Amino acid sequence: MNHLPYGVFSTTGQAPRVGVRIGNHVLDLAAALGDEVFAAPSLNPFMALGPVAWRETRRRLQDHEWDADPIPLGQVTLHLPFEVADYVDFYCSLEHATNLGRMFRPDEEPLKPNWRHLPVGYHGRSGTIVVSGTPISRPNGQRGAGVFGPSVRLDIEAELGFVVGVPGSGAFEDHVFGVTLVNDWSARDIQAWEYVPLGPFLGKSFATSISPWVTPLAALSAARVDGRAQDPRPLDYLRRSGGPWGLDLELAVELNGEIVSRPPYREMYWTPDQMLAHLTVNGASLRTGDLFASGTVSGAENGRQGSLIELSWNGAEPVKLANGDTRTFLEDGDTVTISASAPGTDGNRISLGEVTGTILPARSIT
Ligand code: CA
Repeated sequence: MNHLPYGVFSTTGQAPRVGVRIGNHVLDLAAALGDEVFAAPSLNPFMALGPVAWRETRRRLQDHEWDADPIPLGQVTLHLPFEVADYVDFYCSLEHATNLGRMFRPDEEPLKPNWRHLPVGYHGRSGTIVVSGTPISRPNGQRGAGVFGPSVRLDIEAELGFVVGVPGSGAFEDHVFGVTLVNDWSARDIQAWEYVPLGPFLGKSFATSISPWVTPLAALSAARVDGRAQDPRPLDYLRRSGGPWGLDLELAVELNGEIVSRPPYREMYWTPDQMLAHLTVNGASLRTGDLFASGTVSGAENGRQGSLIELSWNGAEPVKLANGDTRTFLEDGDTVTISASAPGTDGNRISLGEVTGTILPARSIT
């Protein structure tokens, strides 16, 4: 059974519209299902319809209740799949938070006292979220007192993003439409200088890349696993009451075509239903198109971290590539591709696609 991820595509001379991926083809849903909700240049109108419409559309696709010729992927341009409303980035990997704490604050306990009590997060910049394939200019910024210029410690963060369809609070699967892959590009030198005391800002906001395909939650039913044990026991509003939402996804990070890490999503400490509960507990409203990301996915094992700062231990142990190159942080011209797979309902693994980007030199500041 195909897992039927959704995206937005265009062909020569035609406006972007919603499609579903079937193998190496895209099905034009407005044409195939005769429904104008798919003629929009984003998934937002369809996502806003809610789970009954999501299920019915999926059933019609699976039962082949459509009549159109799928278009080869090679003939289409893929666009940002949804209009991003608000963007929140969490920090849900115990190993990532511990590793970064050790590097940024070597004289303190690596985890801050709040970390095991709530999913720590911050509001990111939705306007600079770009679709996979968009080149990323190396950011300029302050790297310390009186020091300005291009970041020399440009990094990646391999993450999973959750896309909100229906506003309001309630059961996770009644609000979240699906998942996307996220590369939260991070300038570590800008970040280290600016982040105290209000958190990440310009070291993150220059660009965040997402995959062109949004995999519906329904396609991930075989990937659902119990979340990791939590100590102390979370407050009531953070209890995992709606069934397990740990996800057995395997990410892969490729640098210039070579896999340098395989982050395991199932090792994440906070689960996405907990992130959503936390995001809304103060009365903050959601909007269709909100994106909340997991934070860097880093496993306990060496070589399974989702950022170069961890893989190279803050530059002390460069990552060795098969062609003899080494990397601590990204160089101009480097290409990073993050992909992921999950167990499918028929026993075969499904692909969640990929998010890729190539680093361009910094823009000159005159
Ligand atoms: Ca991040």
